[in-house]
Amino acid sequence: MNEERIVTVQASLRDRGIDALLVSVGSDLPYLTGYRAMPLERITALVVPSVGEAALFVPELEAPRVETSIEVRPWGETDDPFDRIAAALPGDGIIATGDQMWASFLIAFQNRLPGARFVDAEPLMAPLRMIKDEDEIAALRDAGHAVDGVADHLSTVRFSGRTEREMSRIVSDLVLASGHETVSFAIVAAGKNGASPHHEASDQIIEPGDAVVVDFGGRVRGYGSDTTRMYCVGEVPDGFEEAYAVLERAQRAAVESVRPGTTAEAIDAAARSIISDAGYGEFFIHRTGHGIGLDAHEQPYIVQGNAEPIRPGMAFSIEPGIYVPDRWGMRIEDIVVATRDGVERLNRSSRELRIVE
Ligand code: ZN
Ligand code: ZN
Ligand code: ZN
Repeated sequence: MNEERIVTVQASLRDRGIDALLVSVGSDLPYLTGYRAMPLERITALVVPSVGEAALFVPELEAPRVETSIEVRPWGETDDPFDRIAAALPGDGIIATGDQMWASFLIAFQNRLPGARFVDAEPLMAPLRMIKDEDEIAALRDAGHAVDGVADHLSTVRFSGRTEREMSRIVSDLVLASGHETVSFAIVAAGKNGASPHHEASDQIIEPGDAVVVDFGGRVRGYGSDTTRMYCVGEVPDGFEEAYAVLERAQRAAVESVRPGTTAEAIDAAARSIISDAGYGEFFIHRTGHGIGLDAHEQPYIVQGNAEPIRPGMAFSIEPGIYVPDRWGMRIEDIVVATRDGVERLNRSSRELRIVE
């Protein structure tokens, strides 16, 4: 699998007149090598020349963790890794650099290769990573199924009297228990805090009458899950139910609009027009969704202005929200995959408002 992806990247490098790809930490590395490096000051770097053999440079102490079919070149604790890696790069060529390369690393390479020109690797990598293959979709599907179980389990948990932080810990534990390797985030935002889409769980105590936004995800075989469900403690706040009915309709319309040939921005418009027509447009303050894969947020972004055509194998979230400052917030989020003739939802737990204790 790694070999195939390297061959594809090399063809794309030649098409674009780029001489080499240089990636460091970030998800291009596991995509191309199967190995996810720790984000350390000791550099790990993959060099893919447009013609010839790829090489993976790793700190010697990390080498035992590396399992890949690519040639591994460990560098010792007292070596200068930048000298060694630079020697494998075209000194007067064009080098595409991964978007998560540390600035300090890039500056070190620029100093050693003053004749080289560095360009952004994203236009090269995003088209490849956006289209998921069968194994990637299977991992996303398993991750989605696992978080659906967590969403259902949460309906049986008492929210009232716990702090957001305690609830967030419970969610994280459930995400791990459901078969995820890691937890990426567990947002719990009660009452007014729900109006802040990425609210950080606080010591605020959850009370009867609170609407609680719970948005969580982790990784299964390296691939992300991400779902949001709404929980109301005891009773539903004033004005909430009407808005929630609009949100559910908007989310469903956006999911149903997914098919090959439509565009990312048309999917955004499908959700946004319903929310706007119902008078809540000013309270939907973010894009409708983001791609998901080895990164929690990646291309394609489901946003106005993105005319990217939807193709089979693209995986992304559909997560419209309505956020009324000083009152409450709400969001419904599912991951979907575009198929040959439509869409597959990877999250299938009930989207109904969940009343909890
Ligand atoms: Zn988000
Ligand atoms: Zn989310
Ligand atoms: Zn999301």
